[in-house]
Amino acid sequence: MEQARALLKKLYGYERFREGQEDVIRNILEGNDCLVIMPTGGGKSVCYQIPGLIFEGITLIISPLISLMKDQVDSLVDMGISATLINSTVSATELRKRVEDTINGKYKLVYVAPERLDTPLMMDIVLKCKISHIAIDEAHCVSQWGHDFRSAYLDIHAFIRKIPTKPVVSAFTATATPHVKEDIILQIKQQNPKVFQYGYDRSNLQYFVLKGVNKKQFVLDYVSKNQSESGIIYCSTRKETEKVYELLIKKGANAALYHAGLTINQRKTQQELFLYDHANVIVATNAFGMGIDKSNVRYILHYNMPENIEAYYQEAGRAGRDGETSECILLFSPQDVQVRRYLIDQLEEKEPTYLAHRYDKLQQMTHYCHITTCLRKHILNYFGEDHPDYCGKCSNCSDEMIKEDVTIDAMKVISCVLRMKERFGTASVSEVLKGSNNKKIKQNRFDRLSTYGLLKAWTLSDIKDFISKLIADGYLEQSTDEYPTLCVTNLGRSVIKQEVQVIHNQLIAREIVPIDGLFERLRALRKRLAEEAGLPPYTIFPDKSLREMCQFLPTYKTAMMNINGVGEVKYEKYGEFFIDIIQAYMIEEGYEIQVPTHTTMPTISKKVVKKSTEASAIQSAELFVKLGSIQAVAEERALKIRTVEDHIFKAYEEGYKIDLTTFIPSGHQEIIEAAIEKAGTSKLSPIKELCPRDITYNAIKAVIAIKARSDRPTR
Ligand code: ADP
Ligand code: MG
Ligand code: ZN
Repeated sequence: MEQARALLKKLYGYERFREGQEDVIRNILEGNDCLVIMPTGGGKSVCYQIPGLIFEGITLIISPLISLMKDQVDSLVDMGISATLINSTVSATELRKRVEDTINGKYKLVYVAPERLDTPLMMDIVLKCKISHIAIDEAHCVSQWGHDFRSAYLDIHAFIRKIPTKPVVSAFTATATPHVKEDIILQIKQQNPKVFQYGYDRSNLQYFVLKGVNKKQFVLDYVSKNQSESGIIYCSTRKETEKVYELLIKKGANAALYHAGLTINQRKTQQELFLYDHANVIVATNAFGMGIDKSNVRYILHYNMPENIEAYYQEAGRAGRDGETSECILLFSPQDVQVRRYLIDQLEEKEPTYLAHRYDKLQQMTHYCHITTCLRKHILNYFGEDHPDYCGKCSNCSDEMIKEDVTIDAMKVISCVLRMKERFGTASVSEVLKGSNNKKIKQNRFDRLSTYGLLKAWTLSDIKDFISKLIADGYLEQSTDEYPTLCVTNLGRSVIKQEVQVIHNQLIAREIVPIDGLFERLRALRKRLAEEAGLPPYTIFPDKSLREMCQFLPTYKTAMMNINGVGEVKYEKYGEFFIDIIQAYMIEEGYEIQVPTHTTMPTISKKVVKKSTEASAIQSAELFVKLGSIQAVAEERALKIRTVEDHIFKAYEEGYKIDLTTFIPSGHQEIIEAAIEKAGTSKLSPIKELCPRDITYNAIKAVIAIKARSDRPTR
């Protein structure tokens, strides 16, 4: 295991194994067959790659997707590991060469498509090389119960039997249903495999269900607020993907499009636009995503509700493989349920129990969109795992949601539906509430209804959105015939009786991660280096590494090597480019640049680096108390004013007694207070937006801190 840990550090640049990795690796190395169930992004690849590097013989990795294989091999090669792949994209001569090289010991990791196993060239490898280990990635593909069934996976066992050396067989999947689990063991015929199953929770993902929002508007806002982040928008039909795609393109977004109606070449181009960060968002049907390993997908928007929770969790799970905070937002509308029903009705398969099974799952998905308890808990319970009642991050437990009491407006709409005898649809009801003056209204004498014009001040489309929200929340119901009419549910009736309140949860589209100047620069550098290397940017360094660089500001080799994800080979290739940018940034911002104090020092731990900035902060604070002005401290210490301000704030937060009014130039306090009144204090940037330009973040922070102190009850 020592060796395994050393490889993790040296090649991958990771400090320690994640949950499970160590156990799995140990077992594989000891020769035990393993079935490993680990959530997406859990780090399965490392579990078979590291044993592959340690075993004396070759590790064959069976992987279903060509794009996935290429990605993995490219990123292994970039780490300095020699690996190769064998699939239908490789020419016959090149194949011959790769097989020869493998036989001559050039490669320890060989990726192969299941369709290629039963070929003379593979048999050549099997007979002439020692094969120590077979790893089967995405192993749920052997199961007809999963949705990614691949018939070639059924031949894996026959292939393994032909291998004279009796290799260890490991299988990996993120699908945990018992059926699939049994199928894998049965089909691959592993020898008493050790089964490892790890928590299904993806704690860095935030789940939201938003009902009855204006989807187009939301998507436009959201994508533009997050234009430097990668995201996927899933729609239920090809037509819908094209609509959303057009909408985004028209507004100047950098979007790509993916559905099964495109040619293979078009799909490849679109997918690459996304993988290589040329397009930040891809609008797709569920045909997209399997085998996409892009680790920095920051959001998944479901423009329509998926058919079942399994599909939802899998699609949502494509966000945040790198472990960084990411958002999964489902935009629910009642029509989505109808579309899903229709799609099931169109299936060729007509076997009644099978269809009932699909309807049942659809029902559970719909139910998920309506619950008011923790979404994370609900999903995990669905997959048979426990979770506390409250996660603090989903749309039902997060305080980021704006809760709005709309009972009065809801009463207006509901009574209008009743007055119209529950015989009309959304369009007519909206016209009446708006107080429109058309023929139909006149004919039906709707203008004499007491509810006529009750929502005069609203736009028609706002009224329609509001009605669909009430439908989504179960206050109204829409019939499913050709001309859908609205009727009031029992829940709706209790609103009229003033027995229940109607509260709407809203999420304002916002930045998932706040913009950080240095991060943007590092990201731009990464993209340039990736272009030169012909690799997707996230394979150079994951976002997480860039974030750590922003936090720890490494400016020399040992410090850089302490960043998670920076291994030796990566450092040699890219380290100094990143150091240059960090240094330039620090000089501009007036930070002190740290260098190792003597060259024999082996490593400087992050703690030391962090502590020394803390020490520096305290030094500034003490000087400040003595000299009484920030300017004076800055001169004394030859630092930028902003740096000194940051120091003093840090000291204040640590409990130093400091008079914060120094941060607030005269006249600014009132302006800032007025802005706080409007924007609240949960985030700084909205306050800053309301203030004149010359007001600094630190001045705002000072006003908030002073306010917090005076708001505190005194005894
Ligand atoms: P999976 O195949 O289980 O979905 P991957 O193998 O693609 O997950 O790994 C997901 C991400 O986690 C990758 O960016 C990988 O480099 C990273 N990772 C894997 N192991 C570790 C570790 N021990 N420490 C930090 N990051 C890791
Ligand atoms: Mg994987
Ligand atoms: Zn929750």
